[in-house]
Amino acid sequence: MIEKPLKAVGVGLGPSNLALATAIEERNLKIKDNFDCLFLESNRNFQWHPGMLIPGMQLQVPFFRDLATVRNPQSPFTFLNYLKSKNRLDQFINLRTFYPSRVEYHDYLTWVCERLSHITKFGCKVKSISPVWEENHRIIKKLKINYVDKKHKNTKSCIAENVIISVGGEPYFPPCVNDFEDDRIVHTSSLLKKIPNRFVQSFENYHFIVIGSGQSAGEAAYYLLKQYPNARVSLCFRNYSLHAIDNSPFVNLVYHQSAVDSFYKLSNPLKIKALHDLRTSNYSVVDLNLLNDLFKEQYLDLFQGKERLKICPGLNLENIMLTNSIVQVDFKDIYNESTETMKGDAVILATGYVQDNYSKLLDELNEHLKKNDDGEYLVSKNYQIQKEKSMHANVYLQGYCESTHGPSDSTLAIMSTRAELILEAILNDGCSIKNNLKIVRKELNEA
Ligand SMILES: Cc1cc2nc3c(=O)[nH]c(=O)nc-3n(C[C@H](O)[C@H](O)[C@H](O)COP(=O)(O)OP(=O)(O)OC[C@H]3O[C@@H](n4cnc5c(N)ncnc54)[C@H](O)[C@@H]3O)c2cc1C
Repeated sequence: MIEKPLKAVGVGLGPSNLALATAIEERNLKIKDNFDCLFLESNRNFQWHPGMLIPGMQLQVPFFRDLATVRNPQSPFTFLNYLKSKNRLDQFINLRTFYPSRVEYHDYLTWVCERLSHITKFGCKVKSISPVWEENHRIIKKLKINYVDKKHKNTKSCIAENVIISVGGEPYFPPCVNDFEDDRIVHTSSLLKKIPNRFVQSFENYHFIVIGSGQSAGEAAYYLLKQYPNARVSLCFRNYSLHAIDNSPFVNLVYHQSAVDSFYKLSNPLKIKALHDLRTSNYSVVDLNLLNDLFKEQYLDLFQGKERLKICPGLNLENIMLTNSIVQVDFKDIYNESTETMKGDAVILATGYVQDNYSKLLDELNEHLKKNDDGEYLVSKNYQIQKEKSMHANVYLQGYCESTHGPSDSTLAIMSTRAELILEAILNDGCSIKNNLKIVRKELNEA
């Protein structure tokens, strides 16, 4: 049975599409027309990076940058409203922080999700998006979203005029890793799933080799030191030193939605330069408080004549070898122009994510979507992929536009306002008319 076409289908339900779902829901509560939408999520329940939900670790953006506040501080879906409804607002205020723990933020996102169950479907993995031809095979007015329903173990589809893809990234494994299944090679995305299962003796003197110099590497090292008081942790990375995140106020201005406009206007070479200049605001950097905590651990050990945390700069990963009893990791020592071999019980890869996994979903639409000379989709300022004349349906991207829209795109920083812009574009049938946002706001105010 072919179901009624929907106005919009969101593929993936992480924070990005959840922010869009709240914007649509708020509109639907005020304006009684038919903005039918559905959000499909592969997981069977809501999850936000569960492998890294390390107790005590904090959100890296202020809670004001939640799913709704910057878009509409009066939204029922704000973090503050969540706290109020959980009867923790007073106590949270006493914490005197803008940065809740990630565990609490995960609970907030789950709470929002529960309120949107009528427009979400879990356990549904989208496999492809295909064209629905009309007018004698001349025009694609709608898209067919094909997915596997994990619960019913069958393939299903739905039809929509607009598709918003926010499927996140996929763990990046360096080319030398060829055994992904072994539970001694752990990407940080599955840290809490694999490590406690394999390493069950808390007081054993394991040796963990952590590779990376970003926030996840710092968090993984700290977690291992706390969880295994007798373990050794070698933190290995290419840079000359560990660096703190630059989240000072002027740099943070770049993470506002208004900064996306200025970034979008830059020429490509200047975009590359700006992203390079801003690298220390997001990549290969660790929160200063966490760096201080790691340093304190190291100092306390020194005082007790121990060396549990070893910081190993200048090491480029070359090879990982597994035997029954050990994991051997070979590095090139960049600054000493030599090689270094380490033997340990597990290697933890804090090597980040690749963000191009979404494109395979669009294979069947390829000739109807515009690309640049490098084969990348051309994306308008309103996050819509530019299209050929044959294509009347619209595809929007969230989280894949860093090179065109600036460094905030792959973070939580602009979620609520980006969702508002996409909703505006959908309501205006994909056109980006200047000041159209005013139309959406007027609609909401008049309702
Ligand atoms: C450990 C960690 C902590 C972070 N903390 C911060 C932070 O504090 N501040 C910040 O600004 N950024 C942070 N980030 C950056 C991160 O990009 C954002 O936190 C956020 O998760 C991005 O949301 P998203 O919805 O775009 O993607 P994701 O959260 O990755 O969600 C994508 C969803 O799509 C689903 N999916 C994938 N494929 C399919 C498919 N084919 N069909 C259906 N569903 C699919 C996935 O299961 C997933 O639920 C962090 C990243 C990590 C890894």
